[in-house]
Amino acid sequence: MSKETGRTLKGGEPKQLPIYPHKNKLVQAVRHNPFLIVTGETGSGKTTQLPQYLYQAGYCKDGKVGVTQPRRVAAITVAQRVAQEMKCTLGREVGYQVRFDDCTSQDTVVKYMTDGCLLREVLADPSLSQYSVVILDEVHERSLNTDILLGLLKNVFCNSAGATKGRSFPLKVVVMSATLETDKLSAFFNDCPVFEIPGRVFPVTCTFGSAVGPKDVESSFYVKEVVKVALDVHTSEQAGDILVFLTGQSEIEHACDLLFDKAENIDYRYDVLDRTVEGILILPLYGSMPTDQQRQIFQPPPPGIRKCVVATNIAATSLTINGIKYIVDSGFVKQLNHNSRVGMDVLEVVPISKSEAQQRAGRAGRTSAGKCFRIYTKEFWEKCMPEYTVPEIQRTSLTAVILTLKCLGVHDVIRFPYLDCPEERFILEALKQLYQFDAIDRRGKVTKLGELMVEFPLHPGLTRALLKAASLGCEDLLLPVAAMLSVENIFFRPGHPDKQKEAAKKHRALAATTGSMNDFATLLSVFNSCKSSDRPSAWCKENWIHWRALKSAFSVETQLREILLRLQQRRDFPVETFDGNKSELFRRCLCAGYFTNVARRSVGKVFCTMDGHGSMVHIHPSSSLFEQEAEVNWVIFHDVLVTSKMFIRTACPIRYEWVKDLLPKLHEVDVYELSSVARQEVTEDEMVKWESREAAKRQQEGSAEDA
Ligand code: ADP
Ligand code: MG
Repeated sequence: MSKETGRTLKGGEPKQLPIYPHKNKLVQAVRHNPFLIVTGETGSGKTTQLPQYLYQAGYCKDGKVGVTQPRRVAAITVAQRVAQEMKCTLGREVGYQVRFDDCTSQDTVVKYMTDGCLLREVLADPSLSQYSVVILDEVHERSLNTDILLGLLKNVFCNSAGATKGRSFPLKVVVMSATLETDKLSAFFNDCPVFEIPGRVFPVTCTFGSAVGPKDVESSFYVKEVVKVALDVHTSEQAGDILVFLTGQSEIEHACDLLFDKAENIDYRYDVLDRTVEGILILPLYGSMPTDQQRQIFQPPPPGIRKCVVATNIAATSLTINGIKYIVDSGFVKQLNHNSRVGMDVLEVVPISKSEAQQRAGRAGRTSAGKCFRIYTKEFWEKCMPEYTVPEIQRTSLTAVILTLKCLGVHDVIRFPYLDCPEERFILEALKQLYQFDAIDRRGKVTKLGELMVEFPLHPGLTRALLKAASLGCEDLLLPVAAMLSVENIFFRPGHPDKQKEAAKKHRALAATTGSMNDFATLLSVFNSCKSSDRPSAWCKENWIHWRALKSAFSVETQLREILLRLQQRRDFPVETFDGNKSELFRRCLCAGYFTNVARRSVGKVFCTMDGHGSMVHIHPSSSLFEQEAEVNWVIFHDVLVTSKMFIRTACPIRYEWVKDLLPKLHEVDVYELSSVARQEVTEDEMVKWESREAAKRQQEGSAEDA
């Protein structure tokens, strides 16, 4: 029996949710259709209830009910909630699986997971034989992995024998979405039926601000403004909870700090309009938050206290918080975008789309009329915000998913059934990168190395570096680094300026112990120092390191090591030798994966990338190279952050000789090869079109360089 048994449920009562009256009809609809689309307002009960209805209807007798989420927090919190509703221990009948965190068991029949996890399962078991129903949730978010799953599931069914191949019973597919784009989805799945859950929404009045205009992308500015508006709402509006939309963990932590500080000075006898309001409870909510803290988000606040949740976009549709009456919208979102200036994916803060802004505002009108305070001007709305959010598949690197598709036997990655096609050049760029990593050969076939690479849930470059290290017998250098780069930022940055200085000093000291100005080495050193410490959590506190993040890094490292050990059993696992010192060995392994991210000193403190884009980049102040870069001429880096300038983060100095032989690979791949890699058959016509397009591109680039 579970610990949860007997506890009363807090939050939405399942029988009062809009989905409840439709229970039987929904189960019938699933029974009679191989594909079904279910739509309904956020909070109607789709995610938490439908899997339970299917469970009760016996769908878990033959297999599991699997539900995908684009966000890991959503998968975890929803599974917790459903376990509680079904009165079972999390990880037994109801479980979740997200990258590097598997909370399922033999008994698990209702499984929440990220879309990335299901994609990996398809690799191991293409017919998904363990599942009786697969529910793709939050499809309107149009995450890359969900889009790929849509295509794969369509393929399975359209391929006449596919639906039953390798299975003893037919698979059911349910696609769930907020009320957008249902016609398009239905058409995609051979005009399958759409089940609409009617919901009631209350009006939300929106007001624009006067502060943030088209040029204010600086976080310091919009964070302050959001805090100011939230405090205004707190003091001048009637009781009701506030939901603030911000961009990411650090902005949210910063805003919460400021709110705490300012809220302390409120005199509730005089300063607030609604005298029933006697305090404020400030709660952050972002992707990598500890789960015990997340629980509080859903609890009603104590009497007289106003809850103020400061969240990322996760609160827009993935999680429903009851009791929200006011929205404060920053107008920005942190998004992974393919940046053509640097030729790679970068995390950028960009204006949200108008449809996203409406979605955010809607969160205030679930149970009664609400208000939405936009901190940006009407001009910002008109000039800077696009109508709709571009699907991820059309704006991020496709390298990892193309490798997955190829490993699944989908060779023609251009004519794959995409709900929205990515631009061909993005596909070609992915193929080019895979070719550069030796993951595919000149004919587009997956190589042995590619087969190894696909096993790791990491960025292909990082995987390549790790495999290089493993082949040289020094995986102990790279495994911790790969783990540290897969968890949230481990360096704690306090909100208070004095403390910030203190933390920065400690962090610099940590970097100095490696004696190498190498940020990757710092990560390795922090990992090892903490691991060998008697009191790791105290060690972290002393050094301003997030203990929780480091704990997950330990677990991730173990899991990566398990994958590697399994692969090393293969007889054809590559073996290489190297004689040189350890620091060089370490950096050479990094070069194997990061040679696409090489930059050379240009003038002063500015570096120039070598990938053919020739972008000017700056060393990020958090890097150990920031102050000493004068001695360094060549660097590789893990990622790029775009704010006022382009900053490279997690960098290390290298020697030109180490990448000299690799760099030509960045330019040599030619169009004939790539297009034949992309399709199996290329017509003459297509070839000619290609050629002229490429020639035009080269010419353009040439003239840009001349200028
Ligand atoms: P939908 O998927 O249609 O947006 P959900 O099934 O996510 O709706 O949510 C239904 C209801 O369950 C909402 O009222 C929400 O507040 C509540 N709920 C969901 N998760 C939790 C949780 N972890 N704790 C408390 N209430 C929750
Ligand atoms: Mg949902």
